[in-house]
Amino acid sequence: MTLIIENVHIAPVSGPEIPSGFLRIDGDTITELGPGQAPDVPGAERVDGAGCLATPGLVNTHHHLYQWASQGLAQDATLFEWLVALYEVWAAMDAEVVEGAATAALGWLALSGCTTSSDHHYIFPKGRGDLLAAEIEAARAIGLRFHPARGSMDRGRSQGGLPPDVVVEELDDILAATAEAVDAYHDPSRSSMLRVAVAPCSPFSASGALMTESAALARDKGVRLHTHLAETLDEDEHCLEQFGLRPVDYMEKLGWLGPDVWLAHAVHLSDTDIAKLAATRTGTAHCPSSNGRLGAGVARVSEMLRQGANVGLGVDGSASSELTPMAGEMRQALLFQRARYGPQALTARQALELATLGGARNLGRQDELGTLEPGKLADVVLWRAGGPFHAAVTDPVCALVFGPPPPVELVLVGGRTVVAGGELRTVAQDAAGRAGADAHRRLLRLAGERGVTAARRVHGD
Ligand SMILES: [Zn+2]
Repeated sequence: MTLIIENVHIAPVSGPEIPSGFLRIDGDTITELGPGQAPDVPGAERVDGAGCLATPGLVNTHHHLYQWASQGLAQDATLFEWLVALYEVWAAMDAEVVEGAATAALGWLALSGCTTSSDHHYIFPKGRGDLLAAEIEAARAIGLRFHPARGSMDRGRSQGGLPPDVVVEELDDILAATAEAVDAYHDPSRSSMLRVAVAPCSPFSASGALMTESAALARDKGVRLHTHLAETLDEDEHCLEQFGLRPVDYMEKLGWLGPDVWLAHAVHLSDTDIAKLAATRTGTAHCPSSNGRLGAGVARVSEMLRQGANVGLGVDGSASSELTPMAGEMRQALLFQRARYGPQALTARQALELATLGGARNLGRQDELGTLEPGKLADVVLWRAGGPFHAAVTDPVCALVFGPPPPVELVLVGGRTVVAGGELRTVAQDAAGRAGADAHRRLLRLAGERGVTAARRVHGD
C-alpha cells in the first residue's frame, strides 16, 4: 500500500524544509520525500496537501492519563498542596475511571498532532481492577504509539514521604508487578506500538531502595527509566532535609543518570546539574503549561540545549495542565523561554524539534521516530496552516508554533489514519469525550463515598 502526500510544505526537522514537495509512504514507513512533483506510482493513494504543513508526529513524553478524571480541582495550590489534596481522590480510581480518562486524554492528544505518548501511572489501589491494562486498551483503540511507564510509590507519610500510606505499595509487590508489566506488554521491535518503562514516582514518594531496585530491574529487562525530578523548590528542600543532597545529586548517587533515563520537569537545576545531565545524556521532559499552572517555575531549557542536554516536551497530567493540547506546548515552551531569556532564547523550529526529535530521544526511538526521513516510521501530521485565518502568516512553522495550533488535517501513525479532517477516525469522537466526562463524575462519586471532598476547595473559599 503506497500513500503519497503532495503539494505540501514539509518541515522534516532534520534537513532543510521543502516549501512545495511530496512525501511517499509505503506500508508503515516513509520511503521518499522531495521537492516538486511526486513520482507516478500506479495504484497509490494520493492526498493533496496544498495549504498544509507536514511535520513529524509530536511525541509527548510526560503525562498521567488518569488525571483527565480529576481536572479543575485544587485550582490555586502549589504542587505539594495539590498532591496532598488529590492523592485521596485518586485512591478511589478504578479500571473504569482509567479507561474513560485515558480514552479522552489520548483522543485529545491525537487531535493536537500527537502520534506517540508516554504515560506515568503511579497509583494502583488494591482491588480496583487492572489499571495498566485499561489504559493500554484505550491507547490501542485510539491508535497512538504508547509508552506506559509503570509508576510506583512506596514512601508514604509514615516513612517521611508526602503521600498518605493508603496510596503507596510495598517494594516487593511493586517490583513483581513492574516486571510482570514489562514481560506482558513491552515490544522492543522497530515498529513497536507499545513499550513499557519503569517509573518510581519522585524522590518524595519513592524510597532510595525502590529507586535503585527499579534501575536494576529496568537495566536487566532493557527498558527505560522515568521519574519526576527538580519540579519545585519544595522538592529541593525536601531532598536536602531528608537525603542531604539536592535532587540531581541524589539521583546520581542512586545510579539514575544515564542515556536510558528521562526526567519530568527538571525546573530547578544548577549549572552543575545541567552539565551532569548533558554529560550523562539524561533526557528531560519539559512541561511548561503544568509548571505555569502550579507556579513551579521556568525550566532552563535554552541553557540546557546550549550545553547539549536532550529536552523533549510533555503536557503532564490533565489535572495540573488542564486541557493542554500537545501542539500548544510548543508555543508555551517558546514563550516561557523568551519571557525568561529574551526573544532569541528559542526559535519556532527549535520548539518543533523539542516536540518531535527531542521527545523521540527521550523514549529511545530517535532511529525510528521524530523526523521525516526515508526509513523512518510514517508518523506524520498535516496541519492546515494555510487555512483561512492562519494563511496571513506565510511561514507555516511560525503559524504552527507562534499561534494557536492550526486545525489538524491528517494524523498518521505508522501510515494508518488516526485523525482526518480534524476528526478522530479510529473511535467515535463524541463517545471518547463523553468517556472522559463520565470518568470524572465516577471518580468524584467514588471519592465522595470514601468521604473525600477536600480537593474541590480552592483558595479563598
Ligand atoms: Zn507529572
